[in-house]
Amino acid sequence: MMEGAVDVVVVGGGIVGCSIAMELTARGVFKDVILMEKGPFLGDGTSTRNSYVIHAGIYYPRDSWKAKFCVAGNRALYAFCGRYGIPCVNTGKVILAFSAAEMPILERLRRQGELNGAEGLTLIDARATRQREPSIRAAGALLAPSTGVFDVAQWFRVVEGLLYEQGAMVLKNTPVVGLESMAEGIRVATGTRGEVPARFVVNAAGLHADDVGNLLGNRFRIYPIRGDYFTIGGKKAGLVHGAVYPPPGELGLGIHLTRLWDGTLLVGPDARRVERKDDYGPLPVFDADGNLDYESADFQRFFAPVKRYFPAVEAADLHLAHCGIRPSLLPPGEKGFRDFRIEWDRSDGRVLHLLGIDSPGLTASPAIAEHVADLLAERAG
Ligand SMILES: Cc1cc2nc3c(=O)[nH]c(=O)nc-3n(C[C@H](O)[C@H](O)[C@H](O)COP(=O)(O)OP(=O)(O)OC[C@H]3O[C@@H](n4cnc5c(N)ncnc54)[C@H](O)[C@@H]3O)c2cc1C
Repeated sequence: MMEGAVDVVVVGGGIVGCSIAMELTARGVFKDVILMEKGPFLGDGTSTRNSYVIHAGIYYPRDSWKAKFCVAGNRALYAFCGRYGIPCVNTGKVILAFSAAEMPILERLRRQGELNGAEGLTLIDARATRQREPSIRAAGALLAPSTGVFDVAQWFRVVEGLLYEQGAMVLKNTPVVGLESMAEGIRVATGTRGEVPARFVVNAAGLHADDVGNLLGNRFRIYPIRGDYFTIGGKKAGLVHGAVYPPPGELGLGIHLTRLWDGTLLVGPDARRVERKDDYGPLPVFDADGNLDYESADFQRFFAPVKRYFPAVEAADLHLAHCGIRPSLLPPGEKGFRDFRIEWDRSDGRVLHLLGIDSPGLTASPAIAEHVADLLAERAG
């Protein structure tokens, strides 16, 4: 493949790996930056299988990486999309309370979001909620004006071009299958293009960051949590103007509505644990004739909660869409918050691991990239 050690190999061409490669090449501190992606295109993993939401930064504890990177990433993403003409809409979002008794939950979220630096968070009553979203029924809401959506597929097209322009080497269909510590660098073995020594390796392999990290003898473990979506198009989609969320649940943010830049409405995701990291098969919601079975438990799991706050929706409005899998650090049976983990390898301080980059990883990605570039520049001296 190549002779001599390259400066940095970034493993994983999702939004995080691409943002890191972009930041490193933009700064010009490192000469050779190679991005290795095992799939046939950039964004082949979780980054193109989600809600495409630019989050405000509400849900995460103060001073967590998630809170800091989300708030900083929110601004950076809007600016980036604006600069490169990537479809992006600042829709705003309402988190609903279904009764007065739930308003204190929203007040807690408002306080937390405000401490995190999320902008313009306001509690609104039932009337103001109706004015904003006339088709939604609620006792009140928390309004998050800085929430929006962006066209992630277009982001990848733009960024791939920028990476080439900035001098990064982008290798697709290139799985990293081995990492070995040597005096002159880390030997990075690929399944398709031989091996290359690198001064630094950044492990941004998303769902597989544990597998890649464990090539150096670690015992990382990522737990896949799947989320599915339905979609609503046409006039019904037009009844909702921005993002509409119920109060958050234990594993996810509740079945919500997200109005996209093209006017369609996403319904979902849910959150349930799966065994496999490639469990992308369709939900079992079809009858023997291949029609959506509206009575099936998996369909009702989406439809029933949405019908509660969006009464105009009918079962026939929903169509099965995509699913995505979160790279969670939360073991089964446990509850609570898990922050992003960004840490140097314990046995080789030239390898940086990014673990548990689940939501809001999309939003946080520009800020994660800055942080990683700072860490590498500092270590390189
Ligand atoms: C259902 C769902 C909804 C979400 N909604 C949002 C949202 O609205 N807003 C938000 O901010 N975040 C959201 N997220 C989180 C967000 O999608 C992720 O945090 C983000 O995409 C993570 O990006 P990544 O680059 O770390 O991972 P990935 O996109 O998974 O990229 C990792 C890449 O590494 C590659 N790879 C793996 N192993 C190897 C190897 N051995 N060699 C080479 N390459 C390898 C993979 O093919 C993949 O392309 C959501 C996630 C899910 C699942």
